[in-house]
Amino acid sequence: MIPSSFTYKRAGSAEEACDLAAEYGEDAKFLAGGHSLLPLMKLRLAAPGVIIDLGGLRDLSYVTDQGSYIAIGALTRHHDVQHSDLLAREVPLLAHAAGQVGDPQVRHRGTIGGSVAHADPASDLPAVLLALDATLVARGADSTREIPIGEFFQSLFETALEPGELLTEIRVPKPAGAGWSFQKFTQRAIDWAIVGVAAQGGRVALVSMGGTPLRAAAVEAALAGGASPAEAAEHAAEGTSAASDIRASREYREHLARVLVSRALTESAARA
Ligand SMILES: Cc1cc2nc3c(=O)[nH]c(=O)nc-3n(C[C@H](O)[C@H](O)[C@H](O)COP(=O)(O)OP(=O)(O)OC[C@H]3O[C@@H](n4cnc5c(N)ncnc54)[C@H](O)[C@@H]3O)c2cc1C
Repeated sequence: MIPSSFTYKRAGSAEEACDLAAEYGEDAKFLAGGHSLLPLMKLRLAAPGVIIDLGGLRDLSYVTDQGSYIAIGALTRHHDVQHSDLLAREVPLLAHAAGQVGDPQVRHRGTIGGSVAHADPASDLPAVLLALDATLVARGADSTREIPIGEFFQSLFETALEPGELLTEIRVPKPAGAGWSFQKFTQRAIDWAIVGVAAQGGRVALVSMGGTPLRAAAVEAALAGGASPAEAAEHAAEGTSAASDIRASREYREHLARVLVSRALTESAARA
């Protein structure tokens, strides 16, 4: 329960964070809200030699209207995403889902960038951002690039971020009135999802149904072909690889996916 020893560095700017990451290489890890990294360090499942604390980068905490999309700074906490009037108006799926993450303490510390960079398939916001077709902005020591979220999640806890790259912004296209829904099935109110579903118009994404957050491609294809929500939902487990674990068997997760996709599509259609 005590992490192995590490060197602590506090970055004062994104530039300094990237310079420190370049200096210390793969031995270094960024620290945002710490609500995923610190538990791993305490269990010694992660043992970075250098921690680069991003807590001083308050200029990366914002939600702004950029016309066709909403820009969200990577250090924006779940609580601020949940309570953003701009997101409630323009991207209600994201504001609502942020309010379902953990409990108030988690939402006051955890950041949207940390959630995406950590790439836990059981996390809520990565799947929500997949359904929203977001674009991620990453800054390295020498350059900045945009990564479509569909190319970001590569395998369990693995992303398209290069070593030392800092996620700085999440860009969410305005969905322009399409219906939405977020369904999260938990044992207790504050738990992680056993299965979750995010729907935005005809785009559907799944939580905890594989090694990465997934688009429910077979459901989307059925919808595009004119299937009803109930018919399309029957395809929810196709192309998935849900785990069996202490909380649910694979078969139960597949059943939940079909039920929750059906509910999500029905609610989304009612909101359109
Ligand atoms: C009790 C508990 C319950 C929770 N319940 C839920 C839940 O129901 N749903 C849910 O989705 N999540 C849940 N979480 C996770 C929570 O949302 C975390 O806050 C989130 O996953 C990680 O964000 P963070 O800012 O804490 O990141 P950190 O823990 O600081 O970092 C996580 C990883 O991302 C990297 N990283 C962080 N920021 C950046 C960046 N800007 N650029 C590049 N890399 C970066 C770090 O180096 C680290 O590898 C829970 C956590 C706890 C402790």
